[in-house]
Amino acid sequence: MTTHTNAKPNIAFDIDETLSNTVLYYVQEMQKRFGNPEFLSAEEIIQKYRYTQHVPYWNNEKAREWVHQAIYNDELQEKLPLIQQAEVYAPKVAEILNLTCYLTIRQESVVLGTKKRLDKHQFPEAQIIAKPFLDNDTAGSVWKAKKLLSLSPKIEAIVDDNLALVQTFDYLETNYQGTIFLFGHETKPKTHLDVVPCLNWPAVYEAVKERYS
Ligand SMILES: [Mg+2]
Repeated sequence: MTTHTNAKPNIAFDIDETLSNTVLYYVQEMQKRFGNPEFLSAEEIIQKYRYTQHVPYWNNEKAREWVHQAIYNDELQEKLPLIQQAEVYAPKVAEILNLTCYLTIRQESVVLGTKKRLDKHQFPEAQIIAKPFLDNDTAGSVWKAKKLLSLSPKIEAIVDDNLALVQTFDYLETNYQGTIFLFGHETKPKTHLDVVPCLNWPAVYEAVKERYS
């Protein structure tokens, strides 16, 4: 028998809240700019609301405008903190599986800054697939689910924190045969998809090892 060393299954990594602690940076900045009437720490705000758009006292024109600017600010991407231990375990996962791409709902206009950031922390080299600039009408999770489906079965797994990818897109549930390592989650949501909840990066590594090596 010949050993095919290039026959590793292909995987994709999400970026925000999977590798990059993007929401932490946004919350810290927005506390300074738009107030913190509940006197919560940034971590407590994330615990309570998860995303900045769910924070009631930041639901105003100025705050939304700031977020909008930030999303399109390529240089800002280089400032974002990392998710704990991502830079240690993501490369280990990419030794077991073939990292084909980073699949992100970030805008295509911030791919350069995103790449600089990934390179600086020596994340494995792979194409960054971002949401097309002109596509304003499709919700991020829907765009990503469709993209993921179009890349399967070539890409058979993704590490992603977005529960909406699993829950709100019926089309994925009926058609996607791959695996979603659901980052930052402890329990498996109700779904027919092959979802493996992984609370943190060591858990992703253990789950991937168990399944593929
Ligand atoms: Mg994410």
